[in-house]
Amino acid sequence: MLYDNLSVNDKGHLTIGGIDSVSLAAEYGTPLYVLDEDVIRSKCRTYVDAMHKYFGPEAAPLYASKALCFKGIYPVVASEGMCVDVVSPGEIYTAAAAGFPVEKMFFHGTNKTDSDIRFALEKGVGYFVVDNFNELASLDRIAGELGMKQKVLLRLTLGLDPHTLEAINTGRVDSQFGVPVDTGQADEFVREALDCANISVEGYHSHVGSQIFESDSFMRQVEILAEYSAKVAKETGFAAKIFNIGGGFGVRYTDKDPEQNIPERIREVSEHLKDACSRCGIGIPVIYMEPGRSIVADAGVTLYETGGVKEVKGYRNYVTVDGGMTDNPRYALYKSEYTVLNASRADENADYECTIAGRCCESGDRIAEYINIAKPERGDIIAVLTTGAYNYAMASNYNRVPRPALVMVKSGEARLAVRRESFEDMMKNEL
Ligand SMILES: *Cc1c(COP(=O)(O)O)cnc(C)c1O
Repeated sequence: MLYDNLSVNDKGHLTIGGIDSVSLAAEYGTPLYVLDEDVIRSKCRTYVDAMHKYFGPEAAPLYASKALCFKGIYPVVASEGMCVDVVSPGEIYTAAAAGFPVEKMFFHGTNKTDSDIRFALEKGVGYFVVDNFNELASLDRIAGELGMKQKVLLRLTLGLDPHTLEAINTGRVDSQFGVPVDTGQADEFVREALDCANISVEGYHSHVGSQIFESDSFMRQVEILAEYSAKVAKETGFAAKIFNIGGGFGVRYTDKDPEQNIPERIREVSEHLKDACSRCGIGIPVIYMEPGRSIVADAGVTLYETGGVKEVKGYRNYVTVDGGMTDNPRYALYKSEYTVLNASRADENADYECTIAGRCCESGDRIAEYINIAKPERGDIIAVLTTGAYNYAMASNYNRVPRPALVMVKSGEARLAVRRESFEDMMKNEL
């Protein structure tokens, strides 16, 4: 099995955190998101412990809410000592409603409207990560109107290419995120920010991309940030206290992906940071990281019921399931690979080559192509692994398919955390 929390019981069924997946499907219906809370907690601890060990006690991981945002995630990450990254008033609202401390929220986003800015200021979010000049001016003005002084990090684009998918590659100079250092525009950005009366600049932020397995791009990132910070300190006297180096560590979707050793990656980055800071003659800043995918992806499994098996003679075999791009658009968006298995026959040979197709009237509605699973019959439960990140968060009602329920499992017990959407739910705003 791809992960330790998955196993097969004596009925030949897949178990998740010790619970029979076929029973979960029967009790809560399908499609069903299953999230193993113990896995999430252990990922949080890995980050917290390694960051404290290598970057010092003030360092902290921020959970990137966009990977999976619902009320029930916030008490879990809060109790593990995480801060959070939020990218919209909707995420701020959800986290705050779940009792997450607002002062531990970092507000991101490439287009924060005036009303978003006002909303976040009034809620009292800890930090804004300012993306651009327009936002800076609006934030300064609105904070002034509210009589506040807002702590910010400035988002810089460092011109790094982490060699990941185009759609999740954010660090290059030609990017809609942040202000580039290479073009000289960052100098002006920092100077303007330092001149804002209602803004307190605490440091810099940069994020290079996602689903990254090596430390190289993070190492280059801390090096460039240290050099840049030293240059700004020399020119303006401003010494950045914080470097937020973003998220992006990869996870194992299939056994072709390497196993990630997060403490080791963090150790390498910390060594590099210390060297770079001493070379540039600056103090070592407080480090924040923003893992999203690597906190929740592995914890998630989606369960579907098989509708049928269609063998197109001379071409291929299709297994149709009762969900698809509406609950998991990642294959349709990025051709992301997944590990799929027949959870009802997890002890049988996975020797039936097939393509898993969803229920939408869209030929791109697929979850995986040309994979091998134990041959299913109508009614068998199909499990798709590693769906904790960017699945529920990206779900839609295309074809008027209600969003699935989400069940959390912990210490061998399951509990409903998000109810299945009803038809009335989907119509509730329609006049
Ligand atoms: C998406 C994103 C993250 C999280 O990335 P993961 O790959 O999920 O770890 C963190 N910070 C920023 C600014 C992001 O855009």
